[in-house]
Amino acid sequence: MTVQVVVVGGGYAGVMAANRLAGRSAGALEVVLVNERPEFVERIRLHEHAAGGRGLPTVPFARLLHPAVRLEVGRAVRVDAGGRLRLADRELAFDHLVYAAGSTGRRGPGGAGEGAAERHDVATAESAARARERVAALPSGAAVLVRGAGHTGIELAAELRGRRPDLAVHLLARDGVGRALGTRGGEVVEARLRRLGVSVHREERALPPVVLTVRADGFVGASLAADSGLPVDDTGRLLVAGDLRVPGHPRLVGAGDGVRVTGPAGAHLRMGCAVALPLGAHAADVVLATVAGRPAERLDAGFALQCVSLGRGDGIIQVVRPDDTARAVRLRGRPAAAVKELVCRQTLRWLAGEARRPGSFRWPAGPRDLARR
Ligand SMILES: Cc1cc2nc3c(=O)[nH]c(=O)nc-3n(C[C@H](O)[C@H](O)[C@H](O)COP(=O)(O)OP(=O)(O)OC[C@H]3O[C@@H](n4cnc5c(N)ncnc54)[C@H](O)[C@@H]3O)c2cc1C
Repeated sequence: MTVQVVVVGGGYAGVMAANRLAGRSAGALEVVLVNERPEFVERIRLHEHAAGGRGLPTVPFARLLHPAVRLEVGRAVRVDAGGRLRLADRELAFDHLVYAAGSTGRRGPGGAGEGAAERHDVATAESAARARERVAALPSGAAVLVRGAGHTGIELAAELRGRRPDLAVHLLARDGVGRALGTRGGEVVEARLRRLGVSVHREERALPPVVLTVRADGFVGASLAADSGLPVDDTGRLLVAGDLRVPGHPRLVGAGDGVRVTGPAGAHLRMGCAVALPLGAHAADVVLATVAGRPAERLDAGFALQCVSLGRGDGIIQVVRPDDTARAVRLRGRPAAAVKELVCRQTLRWLAGEARRPGSFRWPAGPRDLARR
């Protein structure tokens, strides 16, 4: 009998997993991808959309998926770890399930400095589209706050200045700008943002009145894991072990933003498409090993670069160690913007490439001492 594998979530992790499963199993698996939208969303471009740039960045699944993957469009409402995935109007049976439901924006009250400002985020296609509408409706001179100065906040603030130079753009960077880029990288980015006209603030109480806030202060796991009573961390991410399995649930593995890899294999990993892609590929390998009766390997994934755009003509490419800490080497300006654009396009090539040449996607190894930890 054919083994049924259901992948929930058609983002970077889920599409990579589905393609590798379909391509490497030579017809021995039936692979179903469940996604709530009928097309793939390039989340890494949603800030461009919200700021008024490109249209909604979606790609037809037909361009990305292995032909043997069956797409089921619908919202999953519950994973029954015994082997059923419930959607609003139907159920799918599975022998193995890859949980790849991704992440969404944080909810909850804004900060004291925001007053009665409208709040939006750029974490999903829907929320970015709403933010875009509101930004477009703002009168010249209106003040906008971007809350959070990690990569997404930096890119969004720069993009807003580029698209709407008539707006006053404020960035709240309570913990500094671009901490993940290291001290020097963060200083370079802050100087460039200021040159673009972004006002950078360290303290909430120093903020001027704003009419609109766009949150970029982190993501939380998709709600499906918690709604299903599966083990999650305090941000709703499904807890998985170093082989991406959910302890106690042998049919479930997880990948992408929606999971937290516990133990040494995951200690240096952050949410990001740079992590979702290798996790998706590895999750597929774990399922394939299980079906074949082989032991599954522990994840070994690390980093090589951090790529941040600063509008369309500027950016920073930071070379990093496998554990994501910054090295001294970095590229700036137009060449950096060009590299970032190439990387964004490359993510789609990796996904489609895995459908044509299963097993072709490779990724940087984790910290060298990972094996000894
Ligand atoms: C504006 C922005 C810029 C970013 N820039 C970068 C960057 O430059 N570099 C980088 O590495 N990362 C970046 N990221 C982060 C990156 O987008 C995420 O890490 C990545 O999308 C995670 O991939 P994923 O497959 O885990 O989840 P997602 O891409 O979020 O995909 C999850 C999918 O599951 C679907 N889904 C969720 N719940 C259900 C359900 N119950 N039923 C059915 N379907 C469901 C969702 O609709 C979605 O299609 C950025 C994010 C944003 C928002």
